[in-house]
Formats: sequence, structure tokens, C-alpha cells
Amino acid sequence: MSATAQPLGGITGLETLQMGAARVQVDDKKIINCHADLNQLVPFKYRWAWKKYLDACANHWMPNEINMAADVALWKSLDGLTEDERNIIKRNLGFFATADSLVANNLVLAVYRHITNPECRQYLLRQAFEEALHTHAYQHVIESLGMDEAEVFNMYREIPSVARKAAWSLKYTQSLGDPTFKTGTLENDQRLLRDLIAFYVIFEGVFFYVGFAQILSMGRRNKMTGTAEQLQYILRDESMHLNFGIDLINQIKIENPHLWTEAFKLEAIKMIHEGVELEYVYAVDTMPRGILGLNAEMFKDYLHFIANRRCAQIGLTQQFPGTINPFPWMSEIMDLKKEKNFFETRVIEYQTGGTLSWEE
Ligand code: FE
Repeated sequence: MSATAQPLGGITGLETLQMGAARVQVDDKKIINCHADLNQLVPFKYRWAWKKYLDACANHWMPNEINMAADVALWKSLDGLTEDERNIIKRNLGFFATADSLVANNLVLAVYRHITNPECRQYLLRQAFEEALHTHAYQHVIESLGMDEAEVFNMYREIPSVARKAAWSLKYTQSLGDPTFKTGTLENDQRLLRDLIAFYVIFEGVFFYVGFAQILSMGRRNKMTGTAEQLQYILRDESMHLNFGIDLINQIKIENPHLWTEAFKLEAIKMIHEGVELEYVYAVDTMPRGILGLNAEMFKDYLHFIANRRCAQIGLTQQFPGTINPFPWMSEIMDLKKEKNFFETRVIEYQTGGTLSWEE
């Protein structure tokens, strides 16, 4: 059998084996539209993706490790929380309970197929599992607090400020999820890039942050500390999802500069503005009156600060120059690795299989 000159594979990894095809070389690898064998993780080209996979595994956690007893007592007490505080908890659980499933479905059913690189796919698989863990965490909180599950899980199609965020993002994933959709043309490659910006930069990079700030602020005031701790772990995972997404977008830009046109940049900026506007409406809706030392104006500044960062991260002009972060404590929480004490309340190294019991 003679070896073929090109490393034949395909863009899914499910193609028929090409016996004797040339071995995969580093330079054969590309993030999109790559035809090198996708079942071979090595040789590594994108070490940042592999490193993020390893870092994510090192941060493993499970929602049921977090003690929810204080939250249950507070939630069930008659005077422990104000109506405004209850509204914040319920609305945010309503948004998050379906949001991570939507992100996971976009990843698995729309994005994964078109990212033609094994290192990135390895991270995507880990990310997909983390999205499942997050949905598990919200379900765990909702069940522990004895909330009306149907009410919470249906908010994304019953409460307009929640529904609008989900509806906004759905249009970016629907065409990619079409089984006949293929990358390889300018239009379709831009469509994939648009989906990545919508989900990584705006959905996970803007739409999560009002909820994170509100619930973590309650935790800082010693209220709903178990729920806040779940959110802290989730925020740590999410900031990694965001950073992976930014590296992915920037690498696609490097390899396909023709996609990053002036018109496309303007469109991406418009998407970020729309995201900020939707998230601001959500902030006002979840918190119509100022509480916990927070108010809607501060959220406007916070969203502008975040939007500036997101623009800078993917190479766009900052849209709200000079905005100061009104919640510097959020950045501290996000960079949990610097918090030496974070893991001291429980196991420092996650022991995989630690809860398994073997019967003879
Ligand atoms: Fe995520």
C-alpha cells in the first residue's frame, strides 16, 4: 500500500480510515476547515487550548459538595430576606437554570462539529461537562430551597427580560446546528465566528455578569452563602470559558484574516451594544430598587466596563472609554487562584472516585 502525500482526514473525525496516509504534522493543523486527522490529539499545535483543558480539570468540583443548610434555613425563615432579595435569587436562578443548557447545546450541536482541531475539541468536551455541572448546581439550589421548579425553569420563556437574552442568542446558533451547514465559504466562516462572539463574548461574557454580581454581593453580606459559593465556582469556570473563547476567536482571526472585515467588526460591535442593553434591562428587572449597596446605575457602569474589556480582548475599539469598574471586588473573586484560602474549607485536591464504593 502506498502512502498518500496528504494527511487525509476530514472535518468531523468520523471519516473512513485512510490506510497509509501521511502522518499528521503540526503545520497541517488549523482551527477551522482543517483536513488533518481529528482523532489524533498530538502533535500539539495549540498548547493554550491543551493548557486550559488541564487547568479546567485541576479545578474540578461538584455542586453537592457545597453545604446548603444555611441557605435553606434563611430561605424558609419568614423575615430573613426581603422581597427584593428573594426576587434577585429567583430571577437569577430562572435565567441561569436554562442558560447553561443553552450554552451546552450550542457547543455540542452547533460549534463542536465546525472546530476542526483536537486540542480545542478536548477543551470543548471539558467545557460541555462543566456546563452540565452548572445546570446541576442550579437544580441543586432550586431543589434544596424547595422552589417551584416549573416556575423557575420556565422563566426563560415567561419572563421577558430573561427570554430576550435567550432569544437574542438563539439566532446565532440555529443555522450552525442545521446538519447541512458547512464551513469553508466566507459567509459561513463568518457565521461561525459570529456564533463564537455571541456565545463566548456576549452570552458567557456579558449576560452572566449581572447575576454573578448580585448573588455574590449577597454572599459578601452573609446571605445565601451556599448559593453564592456555587456561583463562585461557576464564575471561575465561566471566566475560563470566556478566555478560551477569546483565544479561539483570535486564533481564527490570525489564520483567516479575510473574515475580519470592517463590516464584520462593526457588526460585532453592534452585537456587544445589544448585549449590554439587554443585560442592563435585566439588571433593572431583577433589581428595580437599589439594595445590597447596588443600584441600576452601577450596573450600567459595570456593563460598560465589561464591554470595554470584551472589545479589547478581541481587537475591537473600546465603546465606553474611561469607564471605571464599580465592583472591583468582582475581579478579586474571579481570580480565585490568588485566594489562598479558597479551598481550605474542604478538600484541597479533588479526589476523583472518592465517593465511589466498590462491592465485592
Ligand atoms: Fe460556560
